Amino acid sequence: MSITVRAAAKINLHLGVGAPRPDGFHPLVTVYQAVGLCDDVTVSSSPGWTLGVTVPDWIDADAVPVTGDNIVDRAAALLAAHHGLPQHAAISVEKSIPVAGGMAGGSADAAAALVALDRLWDAHTSDDDLLALAAELGSDVPFALIGGTALGTGRGELVEPVPDTGTWWWVVVPSATGGLSTPTVYCRFDELRPDAPAEPAGAGDLLAAVESGDPERLAETLHNDLQEAALDLRPDLATLIDLGESHGALRGMVSGSGPTCVFLARDADDARRVAGGLGAEGHPVVLVANGPVAGAHVVTRA
Ligand code: ATP
Repeated sequence: MSITVRAAAKINLHLGVGAPRPDGFHPLVTVYQAVGLCDDVTVSSSPGWTLGVTVPDWIDADAVPVTGDNIVDRAAALLAAHHGLPQHAAISVEKSIPVAGGMAGGSADAAAALVALDRLWDAHTSDDDLLALAAELGSDVPFALIGGTALGTGRGELVEPVPDTGTWWWVVVPSATGGLSTPTVYCRFDELRPDAPAEPAGAGDLLAAVESGDPERLAETLHNDLQEAALDLRPDLATLIDLGESHGALRGMVSGSGPTCVFLARDADDARRVAGGLGAEGHPVVLVANGPVAGAHVVTRA
């Protein structure tokens, strides 16, 4: 038997970051949106454990850890231990989400692996248990399970869907010169914002904009507390954001911890125009995606 599960990249429409908690994690108030840029995880029955990764030519294959260090190994080990099952499967991960790009590609793979292996092993994990296992794997993994548009609190792992009446069009520009490590960006945030409040900035205006479906309103309320740190580490991104806006994007910003930049467009046609403009300026990889899309879900079963 072989099962393929698809999981989407996320954009943080709002990312409010507070001062580090005693456990070292930063408290977050974030609004996630799943966008149509997806990794596929295929699992097949096998007497042992193998993991392979394929990437498009614009992703550096060496940036994705092989078996042993891949987050998919950890997801499988956790699920197997939860049910007292042997960790047996042949897995292939087909990546399309930028690596170390602030779009939670690894988290998407972990969520997809949980769902796929749960089916392969006939484990019937409850939704609550899947969410708890996901939270152990990483702060963004529970959202990758549920998808759509959701409010994230705690360290981002406590997720609840929010009303969203829009179809939002995004232009996504992965970095051509490598990723940014999320811990490095948080460290820089701590240096730049020693006075960060314990309570992160709330998302009230943004939630109202999302519910309204109005892209101009959403553009005004997008917010990323990590942007200053990401731009400090990668000043070239500020130029890219200006360029996207000069080509007609309603608003450009760093995605999560970066360095991927995302641009909100008025509609699909505008998104194609902005993408064309950025491509013509020499950006080698410019993608268009819309959101919200579904969380991790089975696409083929054979
Ligand atoms: P986030 O936005 O959740 O902080 P990110 O999108 O910036 O994460 P990821 O693509 O999830 O970054 O990768 C973060 C690190 O995780 C990579 O540098 C890589 O070493 C490691 N990693 C482990 N497994 C995977 C995987 N399946 N895909 C991508 N990266 C992985």
